Amino acid sequence: GKLHMSTNAAFPPYEMVADGEGFEGTGYEGIDVEIAYAIAQKLGLELVVDDMDFTAALEAAQSGKSDMVMAGVTVNEDRLAVMDFSESYATGVQVVIVTEDSPITTLDDIEGKLIGTQKGTTGFTYASDTPENGGYGEDAVIGFDNGLSAVQALKNGQVDCVIIDNAPAQTFVAENPGLKILDTEWVTEDYAIGVAKGNTALLDAINGALDELIADGTVQSIIDTYITAE
Ligand code: GLN
Repeated sequence: GKLHMSTNAAFPPYEMVADGEGFEGTGYEGIDVEIAYAIAQKLGLELVVDDMDFTAALEAAQSGKSDMVMAGVTVNEDRLAVMDFSESYATGVQVVIVTEDSPITTLDDIEGKLIGTQKGTTGFTYASDTPENGGYGEDAVIGFDNGLSAVQALKNGQVDCVIIDNAPAQTFVAENPGLKILDTEWVTEDYAIGVAKGNTALLDAINGALDELIADGTVQSIIDTYITAE
């Protein structure tokens, strides 16, 4: 009777710990939480949000400890090898956060600088890749437990920039004066719901519900509630 969603509720505006009861009493709020709730309703299940580290949230779905991971999860080949994904419901763009007075104004300026990312994310993977593959090398990258810790390290001068998804970047910059996002967009990605590999019954059920929620405009209206069009 329950649909367990594993997530890392430190990724605004996709998932955040709520001050009070949260969305529909889940204790959490955000785009993923509301979409997950709508899917659970369609399937006649009660949504339970399980908050943990990002990597643990992926692993929970892979091992079946949770039914699905929704955490602004980017679909990529590495993950497709170990889990199955629903159709995509949103896109993300990797961006670079710097201090307002930063000497970094383009992606090229990042060479020789220290980059903060969140552990286990695509931002970490791209940034730590070899220069031949468009990265800056492992030694240039520090992986923090979550995006906010990376942003705090930037404010403290421990790193020179933070590479992270656009939506949380906007939130962190709005909440922390003295920071800005570089104009250069890096990589565009698709977000989807991850489930254990081979669990086609669950994946079909999720995709069926998600299809309807996309078709009737529910998904877009949830996204529009949290992300104002520029
Ligand atoms: N979209 C990124 C990824 O999937 C970051 C997700 C997150 O930090 N919650 O790796």
